[in-house]
Amino acid sequence: MTALSTLAAWLPSPFLRLSAGLHLGALAAVAAAPRLWPAALALLAADHALAGAAGLAPRSRLLGPNLRRLPPAAAARGEVGLTFDDGPDPEVTPAVLERLDRRGARASFFAVGRRAAAHPELAAEIARRGHRLENHTWSHPKRFALLGPRAGLAEIDRAQAALTEIAGAPPAWFRAPAGFRSPWLAPPLARRGLALASWTRRGFDTVTAGPARVAARLTRGLAAGDVLVLHDGGSARRAGGRPVVLDALERVLDAIEGAGLAAVALPAPEGAPVPAPERAGGAADPPRRSRPAAEAPPAVAPGGASEVTP
Ligand SMILES: [Zn+2]
Repeated sequence: MTALSTLAAWLPSPFLRLSAGLHLGALAAVAAAPRLWPAALALLAADHALAGAAGLAPRSRLLGPNLRRLPPAAAARGEVGLTFDDGPDPEVTPAVLERLDRRGARASFFAVGRRAAAHPELAAEIARRGHRLENHTWSHPKRFALLGPRAGLAEIDRAQAALTEIAGAPPAWFRAPAGFRSPWLAPPLARRGLALASWTRRGFDTVTAGPARVAARLTRGLAAGDVLVLHDGGSARRAGGRPVVLDALERVLDAIEGAGLAAVALPAPEGAPVPAPERAGGAADPPRRSRPAAEAPPAVAPGGASEVTP
């Protein structure tokens, strides 16, 4: 990406610039012709409603750049972006990591900063195994989209600092809780070197206890370039207490392999400075992605023993 397009990422989106122009125009019109104030007010109300609606549409790009699917080059390689939100969780995350390793899959983990800080070894293990730790706020506030700029950015900055220290490299992607964010977020996010990421498919595995249903949502019509969302934090539980994400993940990985695709972490955002791959004193980073094909050890039989006790 050129310096010019990097600069463009820092600027408000065309919609926000148009919106600012609309406000100035409405003020000027009312100053010149005060009887126009009801029309001006209605126009500005509609503009605010549209900006608010865009913030509540997780995949909207009206307010700024938003990764929904993998870039064309990744799709051409047959890659599918695999992401896990809301962890790390000391019970679920190790089991997820074990499954990903066994299948040669890589993923991005959108971690909640305070959960990572509470389990720093586990969070570091995610990075050590060649996955990516990304920013999903410090405390996952349900009302994140309603926070003012100061409180909203404090959530992002605190998580960024904690995750950078744990992983040895700064997160490059940010995902808002449930994808909801306020209209002002894009420019300060870009100034922090963070890019907004959403998805093409969600499993709703925090509310659906059936792994087949969760997996079907993620894999029906699955294609290269899809970005999938599962949760290693707050997973719904099957009868007996088993986290639904574990069995859903096996099915999803089966579908990815069956379609001749490869599960990968989200690539670095376009134009982002690529962080140094080595950690202090450590060996070279493991590859960010690998094909799950022939060299991967055979999978344990479906329904076989689980390393997770309910
Ligand atoms: Zn979340």
